[in-house]
Amino acid sequence: MKDIIEKYAHSVEFIDLKVVDIHGRLRHVTLPGNRLNETLFKEGVGFDASNFGFASVESSDMIMIPDPDTAFIDPFYDAKTLSLFCDVFLADTFEPFDQYPRNVLKNAIKKLEEVGVKDAMMAPELEFHIFESFGYNVDTNGSFYEVDVSEGFWNSREFSNRYIIDKKRGYHRTPPADSYSNFRNEVVKVMLEIGIPVKYHHHEVSSAQHEIELLFQKALKAADSIIIVKYIIQNIAEKHGLAVTFMPKPLYNEAGNGLHVHQFLIDQNKNNIFSGDEYSGLSQIALYYLAGILKHSLSGSLLAFTNPSTNSYKRLVPGFEAPVCATFAKANRSAAIRIPGYIKNPEKVRIEFRTMDASCNPYYSLSAILLAGINGIKQRFDPKEMGFGPLEKNIYEMADNEREKIRFFPTSLEAVLEGLIKDNEYLNEIFSKNLIVNWYTLKKREAEYVNSVPSPAEYQLYFDL
Ligand code: GLN
Ligand code: MG
Ligand code: MG
Ligand code: MG
Repeated sequence: MKDIIEKYAHSVEFIDLKVVDIHGRLRHVTLPGNRLNETLFKEGVGFDASNFGFASVESSDMIMIPDPDTAFIDPFYDAKTLSLFCDVFLADTFEPFDQYPRNVLKNAIKKLEEVGVKDAMMAPELEFHIFESFGYNVDTNGSFYEVDVSEGFWNSREFSNRYIIDKKRGYHRTPPADSYSNFRNEVVKVMLEIGIPVKYHHHEVSSAQHEIELLFQKALKAADSIIIVKYIIQNIAEKHGLAVTFMPKPLYNEAGNGLHVHQFLIDQNKNNIFSGDEYSGLSQIALYYLAGILKHSLSGSLLAFTNPSTNSYKRLVPGFEAPVCATFAKANRSAAIRIPGYIKNPEKVRIEFRTMDASCNPYYSLSAILLAGINGIKQRFDPKEMGFGPLEKNIYEMADNEREKIRFFPTSLEAVLEGLIKDNEYLNEIFSKNLIVNWYTLKKREAEYVNSVPSPAEYQLYFDL
């Protein structure tokens, strides 16, 4: 903390304190630069958390206290501004606010100790769409819906433009088809400046779809990074008059946006404890951990945090490289957990959970993943005995009798929320009852809202009946 004060005290004009609401959206307050002193890090800044979506507690007065480890110069302000992510405490007792997403993740990481683990390393992959113009409007007479996509023009009512999109779609394509390569370079330069490690970026399968992959960081940093990278992408898009979305399935019949997370656990000495002599170079612990993730995904409970929107379930359908079933495999992209088979270096052995999407609050979802994994380790879940695979074949090309053995994920937000109510014991110590019931209620309301709005597809099917 002292280093940060020394480094920036006389050079920054403003301090931007950032917190997240329950959905993982950033909120901020800006302080004059002369308030950068020890008191700020000790006493923080008071705020009213009542409209952040959290379950109500006795008093909504909270304190945000900046975490010096999160400092970076925010490039999106004219004045030199030091950005700091905060932790949130109750104003009257000064206890950490137990529903605050960043606190939840810190607690989940601490719980790893119970299974002899120090921390988790995570590398997220962010997929998103860039639209040149975008209009969405639900009017009072029913619904009207229109989306224009940058790379070709897509109008949900005009399928004849489809061929323009086809020309522009595709995995790893080059310019001119990949017309926003410079945009991604611009994003990556900012990421590197503020210390977020990047693996690479590229065009993705769908038209107008892009991806930036991060390198491994400790779990808390990885979650912070997901939030910051979305913020960078949204701000650079705004600057260019573009609209970006991380929505899991923005376009019908095109690939959706996942937020795959590569992960492994480390011990005190930073050894990768996922490395071993079991399947595909994994350790027994890694197999227990992945079985925990698959079991609690299958019940719906984990997906209620990793895939918490109605739109999430429009992505998790067959045919678009998004997982639909509780399986693990080496190369198979229809599996929820992939173990990249080409990795021979024991330090780099990892599993890739491919189900999650960016409509989640990354702090909650990474916490829930860790807790599912910890439960798997504690209970010694054997993924083979539990029928999770390994499943090397593409399930979409399997004979019916083979496919019968495979268990598919719930297919709607409502279904996973019911799963959360039935299966939450593994979360309880870290996710309070209050938090779970509030999340259920909030998300259930979203599902009811979406269900009650007439959709363009319903117009197509039923309007002239
Ligand atoms: N877009 C796919 C998904 O929804 C992933 C495609 C890929 O990265 N190979 O998860
Ligand atoms: Mg990728
Ligand atoms: Mg991808
Ligand atoms: Mg991936």
